Amino acid sequence: MQYQLIKKNQSEHEVNTDLKGIDLLSRPLLNKGSAFTSEEREVFGLLGLLPSHISTIEEQSKRMYDEIIRKDRPLDQFIALNALQNRNEILFYKILYDHLVEFMPIVYTPTVGLACQEFSRIFRKVRGLWITPEHRGSISKVLKNYPFQDIRLIVATDNERILGLGDLGAGGIGIPIGKLSLYTVAAGIHPCHTLPLSLDVGTDNEELLSNPLYLGWRHPRLRGQDYYAFMDEFVESVEKCFPKAILQWEDFKKQNAFTVLQRYQSRLASFNDDIQGTAAVALAGILSGCRITGTPFKDQRVLMVGAGAAGTGISHLLKQKWKTDGLKENELFGNILLKDTQGILSTHSKDLDDNKKEFAWPESLLKKYDLSPDASLLEAIEKFKPTCLIGTSGQVGAFTKNSILEIAKHTKQPMIFPLSNPTSHSEATPKDLMEWTQGRAIVATGSPFDEFIYNGSTIRISQGNNVYIYPGVGLGALILEATRIDDAYFATAATTLASLVSKEDLEAMQLYPDLSKLREISVKIAHDIAVDQGMSPLESQRRLDNFVWTPKYPRYIPQN
Ligand code: NAD
Repeated sequence: MQYQLIKKNQSEHEVNTDLKGIDLLSRPLLNKGSAFTSEEREVFGLLGLLPSHISTIEEQSKRMYDEIIRKDRPLDQFIALNALQNRNEILFYKILYDHLVEFMPIVYTPTVGLACQEFSRIFRKVRGLWITPEHRGSISKVLKNYPFQDIRLIVATDNERILGLGDLGAGGIGIPIGKLSLYTVAAGIHPCHTLPLSLDVGTDNEELLSNPLYLGWRHPRLRGQDYYAFMDEFVESVEKCFPKAILQWEDFKKQNAFTVLQRYQSRLASFNDDIQGTAAVALAGILSGCRITGTPFKDQRVLMVGAGAAGTGISHLLKQKWKTDGLKENELFGNILLKDTQGILSTHSKDLDDNKKEFAWPESLLKKYDLSPDASLLEAIEKFKPTCLIGTSGQVGAFTKNSILEIAKHTKQPMIFPLSNPTSHSEATPKDLMEWTQGRAIVATGSPFDEFIYNGSTIRISQGNNVYIYPGVGLGALILEATRIDDAYFATAATTLASLVSKEDLEAMQLYPDLSKLREISVKIAHDIAVDQGMSPLESQRRLDNFVWTPKYPRYIPQN
């Protein structure tokens, strides 16, 4: 038994447990530390194991918060928060919930990246699961070892493209842990329903392979058929062990990201945040931009620089949205132009991946705009006259001054989104974009940039953070008990997100609502997805009330 969660309602929970004494104190999801009441101390054999004072969760939270912010280095704050999560999980969520904007860069990017790099050095306590090729034939058995079995949400990575940091081997587990922590805070998914998972199929990172302290499966990466046989067994085991779970694929390298998504999308309710979440957050930015400029979405012309996972994911969703808004196939084709290292994606491009083919311009469009397939960015802007320029190339400085001067010549308020991360890879800095366009550009970036002064005013730059999207999509899929998560979920999420930007924010050129409202935003996205998928608003609300959890200690019911 050990742990059985019973929900009375959104704010009241009870837990049945047969654990006592030190066993109870050592389970992070059960340990209340100094907040155990006198009665609980008596009943659960805790007398003498805790200091005398009985704290409220607010007192504990203040004590821990003060302790964490005394640490100067973000990585030390990460370690302190991680230790708290492994000691008293509900207190961890309470602190994260109350200080989300402050701690998001610690539990997630950028600090989590450093923690993944330092994984073998800072590893303290188990959390999540590692599945390696040695488990082939018994992956179900491994899944059953997890201490919770009513799993509804899995975030899984094969660690090959962790943030912008590449192949980090087993250390990549920090990403699913961080994302699920944000899921719990943003969408109220109780931690006992979540599973962070590293598909540790080896690493091609020579530094890790030769590091005697490396904790992962010390082999070159599994590739080709062996990789997919392993993934097939993993997916089958998830279906068998956790039939109610949805799965988020996270930080896979480009080709595997697309193949894994497509291969399992119809078998398992699953999505890839790097492709589909990014697409929705970019679409929301454009929809908000349309509210600022007063121009309809159907009239936007988008030039995408970088046709990888993010670039093609965004382009695909834009096309879907134009289609549902009534544009004809030939119109929506000509609304978007993708430029990659080979030049403009067109029928002239060689060896196009499947995900790129749907954007390859035919000769007739190249002719219409008098463009050659190897046109420079400046020339493409000059002739295609985009209203919106998006960068997902990872190339610092790709948006040159000349190209920005050109877009500003023919668009009064161009939307310019250099989305590449981290800031050192951004296609242009927001400050340059403001100066080059004389303050007319509507800017969103992938990474956070500091405020700056332009023309005597303080400029705050919108950050297209995927956290605005995936918790709401995940929660929507869960209350729908979805068996498949398709593009419509992401289009709804983007539309809802854009609709939540206030008039005051739009006046300040903000494309996204304040991050401090993340819970409200995620729940609204989930509700709108459920209703768009055919659920009645009343039923959606009832399910959300039943599902969404806010960090609070439960009452314990002893079982022996
Ligand atoms: P990727 O490697 O799949 O794609 C990058 C693409 O850019 C490749 O196709 C590459 O050929 C192309 N490219 C490289 N140099 C170029 C150039 N000079 N001109 C045109 N194309 C060029 O990577 P990805 O997963 O698509 O991510 C791309 C960038 O987007 C990363 O920096 C990532 O951090 C960022 N990103 C941002 C968000 C967000 O803002 N929410 C989300 C996901 C990814």
